[in-house]
Amino acid sequence: MKVIRSASDYDFINNNNISIVPTMGNLHDGHLELIKSAKSSNAYVVATIFINPLQFNDKNDYKNYPITIEEDLKALETSGCDLVFLPSSNILDNIKTINAPNSANILCGKSRPGHFDGVLTILNKLFQLTNPKTAYFGLKDYQQYILVKDFAAKNFPDLIINGIKTKRDINGLALSSRNIHLKEDQLKIASNIYKELTYISNHYSYASYDDLINQAITNLSDLGFNVDYLLIYDASRLNNVTKSSTEILIAIAVYLDGIRLIDNIIKKL
Ligand code: AMP
Repeated sequence: MKVIRSASDYDFINNNNISIVPTMGNLHDGHLELIKSAKSSNAYVVATIFINPLQFNDKNDYKNYPITIEEDLKALETSGCDLVFLPSSNILDNIKTINAPNSANILCGKSRPGHFDGVLTILNKLFQLTNPKTAYFGLKDYQQYILVKDFAAKNFPDLIINGIKTKRDINGLALSSRNIHLKEDQLKIASNIYKELTYISNHYSYASYDDLINQAITNLSDLGFNVDYLLIYDASRLNNVTKSSTEILIAIAVYLDGIRLIDNIIKKL
């Protein structure tokens, strides 16, 4: 596995089947699932690790973001990654700002203004530099997945965006780099997020929307969560769900002792 730190070192990669997996590091099995999926398609797999300041609207969140490069490199090598690109902050010099569309202003974008502008801005740059044929993203960040898919369709029409199922721990908690900040008892409490999503998914009907959402918010609040949002959208375009929706996204963001956690379930009706 090659490790490079400068975009100019990338120039010698002469491969027309490159698959990119953008990350911010502190890798867990969820990230590695993306690497393995990319590898299983016989691509030349490029992972990027860059904690992108443009996508943090909370300075403390950025400052406290875990950095575990040595462990990350070992895990990437074991998972079959071919090249790791660790850009330095000068990747941001003269970077072209991308303004995310209006669908960035709901869900996570509503409480994190500018977040998806930052995400698309760095991805635009990474796609330009690495010239991938395919790119892999986690469905845990479903709004990001939809925005990237739309952005790529317009700006990189040959690039295929793949969404990979959320990897969970044994209690159902979605793996996340932020879980590192949770103590053992908090990790157990956090598994209630997926329990509530599962309950809603199993009992969903168009008529029961409000009752299900309100009950889940009450349950989670009683357990000490601060619920940022718990919403159901039509999964295809992130529009409001209608009677004719065929696939729904049940999406949640909560704070547990100040740690932001997100998750979702996609359900076919
Ligand atoms: P991050 O390092 O948090 O920016 O995540 C990098 C990529 O890994 C994104 O496409 C995420 O959606 C994806 N990812 C994060 N957590 C998981 C998970 N538990 N399962 C699958 N993919 C994930």
